[in-house]
Order: sequence, then C-alpha cells, then structure tokens
Amino acid sequence: MVKPRKRALREGSVIVISAPSGAGKSTLIRRLRTSLSGLTFSISCTTRPPRPGEKDGRDYYFMSTPRFKRLIAEGEFVEWARVYGHLYGTPWKRVRAAREAGRDVLLDIDVQGHRQVRRRLPDAVSVFVLPPSLRELGRRLRQRSSDPPEVVERRLAAARKEIAHWTEYDYLVVNDRVSRATQALRSVVLATRLRRDHQSPRAREICMTFGG
Ligand code: ADP
Ligand code: 5GP
Repeated sequence: MVKPRKRALREGSVIVISAPSGAGKSTLIRRLRTSLSGLTFSISCTTRPPRPGEKDGRDYYFMSTPRFKRLIAEGEFVEWARVYGHLYGTPWKRVRAAREAGRDVLLDIDVQGHRQVRRRLPDAVSVFVLPPSLRELGRRLRQRSSDPPEVVERRLAAARKEIAHWTEYDYLVVNDRVSRATQALRSVVLATRLRRDHQSPRAREICMTFGG
C-alpha cells in the first residue's frame, strides 16, 4: 500500500513500459526498482491464473471475470485490455496515491493499454523494450518454462505484430545485456524527473528566495 502523505512538491510521473512477452521487461523492472528509490510499481488486476511463484497482491490482483467486469463498470481502471485471452487492467487507486506522494509509477502494460494511457494521461512517458532478435525472444520464452509450449508459440506469433508498435513510444531500450538495458531504463526515469514541468513548484520556491 502507498501510505497517504501530505502533497509532495513534485507530482510523480507515470512511466509506461511495454514489450513483447519474454523480452525481459519483468527482469529489467525488478532491477530498476532495486537501483532507484521513489518508484511505485502499479499492480494490475487480471483474470489470468497465477503462475508458480506468483503472489496475489504482489505480482497481480488475480480475480474472476465477473469481478473484473464489475470494476470496469465502476470506472476503477486507468485502462484495461484483453491480452492473450485474459483481461488485464490498471487500477486508478494506486496510481493516484503514488503520484500525489511524489512517487513515479511504473506501468507494465501492453500496447493497447499504452494507447489508452496516452489519451487519459498525456504527460505519461513511455518506453518500448525490444529483444535483440526473434530467435533470442524464442529462447528466452522457452527458458522461462513457466508457460506450456502452445502458449509460448502464441506469444511468439503475437510478438511479430507487437514489435511494430515501437514507433508509438517515447524511448526505445534494446534488452541485449541486462545491466546495459537496466542502466538505459534508469536514465529514462532520471531524465523524466528533470522535466521542467515536473519541477516548477520547486523552481518557484527557489525563485521566491530571489524575491521574484
Ligand atoms: P517479460 O517480463 O518481458 O515477459 P522476463 O523478464 O520474464 O520477460 O524474461 C524472460 C526470460 O528471459 C527470463 O528467463 C529472464 O531471465 C531472461 N532474460 C531477461 N533479460 C535477459 C537478457 N538480457 N539476456 C538473457 N536472458 C534474459
Ligand atoms: P503476463 O501474463 O506475461 O504477466 O502479461 C502479459 C501481457 O499483459 C504483458 O504484455 C503485460 O505487459 C500485459 N499487462 C499486464 N498488466 C496489464 C494491464 O494492467 N493492462 C494492460 N493493458 N496490459 C497488461
């Protein structure tokens, strides 16, 4: 839970990260979170069953389709989409609380979700993660071995279409070496924190000391 606090000087940014499944997005996000403070990971709701090792409330909020549909009707999602046959959605609650506390929020969502976020939160920053090749993507998906072979094949077929969307994103990170790609992602977050519009309350405070 993000604890409510008094309004921060800087409202946190929303940073969308998309990639074809298996490109290494979760690996990079995990590393990024240990190397930078002030980040909140948006936990999505999904109707997909948990994979071995996944925990409800940590990796996803796992739920039934009727419950998910109720949340859609109640306007609880920033965005939602059907991905690989299951429903996924980003709840507003955590995104709002984190931003008000001045924390940046990472959204690990697909390209359909990114389109909706761009409409609703036009100042969101987006990053597309590409694997070095289709062959390497296949290797990573099989090596993860948490999905049955037919699911891997479906994800590889989807990847061919998904990668075409890299042009819709602000930044591109090629995940060849984990350390290099994590560093690149870190640079995006740090640069976002320096955006002028995100620093105007602070700049105004400084200007006041000059009597301006
Ligand atoms: P995603 O979240 O994009 O579906 P994962 O982070 O689960 O992908 O990564 C898929 C597999 O590829 C995992 O087994 C992970 O350890 C491996 N992997 C991730 N990044 C790299 C990399 N740069 N080089 C080699 N293997 C990687
Ligand atoms: P996975 O089932 O491998 O965890 O995720 C499958 C895909 O769903 C990934 O591309 C991931 O980015 C996407 N995804 C996860 N959560 C959300 C969400 O809340 N909204 C959308 N649109 N996509 C999501």
